[in-house]
Parts: sequence; structure tokens; C-alpha cells
Amino acid sequence: MDGLMMDFQLTLTHILRRAETFFGEGEIVTRLPDKSFHRTNYRETMRRARQLAAALQKAGFERGDRIATLCWNHYQHHEAYFGIPCGGFVLHTLNLRLHPHDLAYIADHAGDRAVIVDRSLLPLLDQFREQTKIEHVYVVEDSYEELLATADPDDWEDPRLDEREAAAMCYTSGTTGRPKGVVYSHRSSVLHAFGVGANNPLGLGVTVNDPIMPVVPMFHANAWGYPYLATMQGAKLVYPGPHLDPESLLENMEQEKVAWAAGVPTIWMGILHLLDESPGKWDLSSMKAMLVGGAAVPRAMIAGYESRHGLRIVQGWGMTETSPVASTAALPYDLEQVEEETRWDYQAMAGMPLPFVEIRARVGDEEIPWDAEAMGELEVRGPWVAASYYEAPEAADRWTDDGWFRTGDIVSIHPRGFIQIKDRSKDVIKSGGEWISSVDLENALMAHSAVAEAAVIAIPDPKWSERPLAVVVLKNGETVTADELREFLAPQFAKWWLPERFEFVDEIPKTSVGKFRKTALRDQFASEPTPAN
Ligand code: ADP
Repeated sequence: MDGLMMDFQLTLTHILRRAETFFGEGEIVTRLPDKSFHRTNYRETMRRARQLAAALQKAGFERGDRIATLCWNHYQHHEAYFGIPCGGFVLHTLNLRLHPHDLAYIADHAGDRAVIVDRSLLPLLDQFREQTKIEHVYVVEDSYEELLATADPDDWEDPRLDEREAAAMCYTSGTTGRPKGVVYSHRSSVLHAFGVGANNPLGLGVTVNDPIMPVVPMFHANAWGYPYLATMQGAKLVYPGPHLDPESLLENMEQEKVAWAAGVPTIWMGILHLLDESPGKWDLSSMKAMLVGGAAVPRAMIAGYESRHGLRIVQGWGMTETSPVASTAALPYDLEQVEEETRWDYQAMAGMPLPFVEIRARVGDEEIPWDAEAMGELEVRGPWVAASYYEAPEAADRWTDDGWFRTGDIVSIHPRGFIQIKDRSKDVIKSGGEWISSVDLENALMAHSAVAEAAVIAIPDPKWSERPLAVVVLKNGETVTADELREFLAPQFAKWWLPERFEFVDEIPKTSVGKFRKTALRDQFASEPTPAN
């Protein structure tokens, strides 16, 4: 029809320009390896991002070339987040916690031509570079600066990019099978930033006045989009560098008056312990909320932060394939008003989908009812949900014929539309033809005052096919027996859900992004015979 709107391209270049034009003074603070604080601002950072774009072009890289990063969270990584895609290249964040074998596969499969690497991570790069097509290595604070110096950002004109061009890519961790590459477009990255920004429960949204600290690594699904969101809003950014211990993070939060911080539950469990040990030591009055996701967020942690320290947790759910944020437990107005025990029940769910994300859950071809009871596999679709993996035709069955992405997560859906993540399909316990949710059992166990962490896994069982086994880490100085824990669970679950076996360990092994590594627990415990009960 005549008289319509402009076909304006949704690119990260717009966000770059916006930040330098309107938020030039906005601060970007980085905790350096020596623990000192580096301070810069958006004007300088966006200028250096352009310089990087220009320098990469001068060095002979072409449109669509993959440029990898192997870095902690810091301002140079932020430059790469903009300079690479806005130059027409593709930012490929490599996960520095992966095994060199996996990194070799991922960097080679992606066809990375260059890498920007922290000096401290050069030994890691040396272990896999030869098995890749990486031709150029730029070391942060060293040859990376030399690269920048070759170009003058004032001579550079931002290329006209199509919003559907690739901006960035990230590989799934590949806990089952080979890692798979997910390619984000400019359009999907921009819309994702908008969608996450629309998460605005009762004024809790990220605004220009809200310093934000992404603890989630920039190699873990684009740091959940917060670098782009913060830049779009002109919010001060606080990058923790390599220091992810609770003490350093609390220092950052206090000193830099952080309002929002984002990370996986294990990070926040550690911080909660420290706060409980030394209540009042840190002034966290500027905190609005912690954004927590990537794995189930224990209800006891949500309640503990709020009741003991006055701090709010907002849970989010997502996957590398969903950019990653697809839902958040941002409560609608009426639920914000209910008494806190009920409110925590809602906050302990994965929340409702962001605008433009659609959900359904199915068993076979049948959609399950939204009754908070029935369980099925969650399927999603939306403008920042992957439509395929990069060069992996064998994985095409992850998409349904009618265009939904199969998440592999087993969920029930509350009548209010809140997603309840019950398990990953490979972790759910199939006992006597029914499903037992390991997440529900873990959540309940972590509400016991003696329990620091709990992971529940399936072990083979000749009669029931599988049974749950609970692996428990006790808090310092606490004791509790398996029988006491079973009694503690009994009122909350059907009898057949209760684990027969409890194993007490010093630590639960974690994945490269800080989730419970259940495969390792299965290897350790599933082969041992279950003692007769
Ligand atoms: P990986 O865990 O393989 O590294 P992702 O980071 O993409 O890859 O993980 C996505 C998965 O993390 C989801 O499919 C889901 O199982 C889990 N997850 C993410 N957020 C939550 C949440 N809030 N509650 C429970 N599980 C979650």
C-alpha cells in the first residue's frame, strides 16, 4: 500500500551511533587483572570500536569474515562487540572455559580467520590454534593496540549493512553431541535488546540511570545481550574482568553503585553465603535487582536474598538458540501485590515470554494444557530464535515442520502463562513410565537449612527403569542424614518421587558456564550399585 513507513534497517551501527551521540560521557568501568579499576566512556569506546572496524578492513578482512574473541569481560571486548559487526564482520565469542579440543572444533567449524585474545589466555590459544584456520592473533593491550593504530576512525564511513546480515555467532556447549553454531543477525540482536529492555516490572527496567554489571561472561550467549542493551540505553557498564569471586563482585557492586547484575545461579549462591556470613558489610542500597538464569534458580535463594538482605532476584530463561533471553519472571502488577510467599512462588518460575516470543509445549503432537501440572517439551518461535544451526543439516529435526524450535526443555505452564522448567529432556528422571523433575527436587533440597547445593540425577534401575539420586553439598559445619532429608522432602512430593540414595560430596562439578555438570555426576554415581533399601 502507498504511504507506508521507511524500511529502516535495524543494525547495531545505530546503537553505536546513538551511544556516541547521546551518551558519550556514560562510563564503562573494568576490573583489570591486577584488580585496579579502568575507566572509560561510550564516546571513547565507540570511537575505538570504529577504529577496530576500519583496521580490520585495512588488514584485508572481508564482509562476513569471522573474527573470534577469547576474552574475559572488559572494555576491549565491548569494543569488539560493536567494531566487528559494525564493520560488516562476524563476532565469534569463544568460551575460554572449554577444553582445547572443543575450541579447535568450534573455531575451525566457524571458519574463524582472526582472534582477539587476552594475554593471559595465550597459552590456551596455543593449544588449539594450529588445528584452525586462524591467520591473525591480536593480543589485548599489545598487538591489538597496534592493529587499532593502523586506522583512523575519522576516515571511516560506517558500511551500509543489511539488517539480515550476520552480526555474531556463538556455539552451544554441546553437552550432547557436537557443539552447534548459532548465528545472530543485526536485526535479531537489536530486537533482542529491545525485548529484554521491555522487561520492565514495576519500574525495574534498565534505564540510563542504572549501572549494570554483566557477570555472565561475554562468551556465554552474548552476555545475555546486556552489552547491547546497556549501550542502547546509555547505562553505565561495570565489567568484572577475570575476577568472579563473590568478594570482588560485591566490591564492584558497592563501589560502582551497580543497580543490575546478571549471572548464573551458582554465582549468586556464592554471594549469598558471603552476605550471610558478613551481613551489612557491603552497602548495596543502589541495587535494584539481580537477573539470574541459565539454570534453575532455587526458590530458597530468591527468598533468602529478599528476606535477609532486601535484594530482589528476577529470573530469566533462555538458550544460546534464543539469543538467549526468551522469558523473564517480571511480575504483572497484581502479582507484585500478593504476599511474599506466593510472590516467591511466581519468581521461582521461568516467567512469561518476552514480547514477540511465542511458546507452546507438546507431548508427541499433542499440546499440553496450561494447568501447571502437565509436562511437555517447550517449543518457541520469535524474531530472535534461531531458524537453523550453522552448517549442521543433521540437526534439522530440532525444528518442527510448522516452524517452532524444540528447546529440549521439559516444562509445565502455569495458567498465567508462566513457564516452569522441570528439566532438560536428557536430565528428566523417567521412573515407572512417569517423569520426575530433578529441578523440583533440587529446589526443595536447597531450601533445607543445612544444604548448600543439591543436584538430582537419574540412575538406572532394573524395576523402574530410572530412579532419582540426590547429590548434596552441606553448608560449613552442618550435618544432616539421608533419612532426615527424605523426611524433609516427604510432605512436598509424591512418595515415588523421593530419592532412595543421597550422596554427600564436597563440591558439585560445574560446566564451563557454571551449571551443574550432571553428566559427570552420572558417570560417577550411576555405575555404582544402589544398596538394597
Ligand atoms: P548450555 O547449558 O548447553 O551451555 P545454554 O546456555 O544455551 O547452553 O543453556 C540453555 C539451557 O539452560 C536451557 O535449555 C535450560 O535447560 C537451561 N536454563 C536456562 N535458564 C533456565 C532457568 N531459568 N531455569 C532452568 N533452566 C534454565
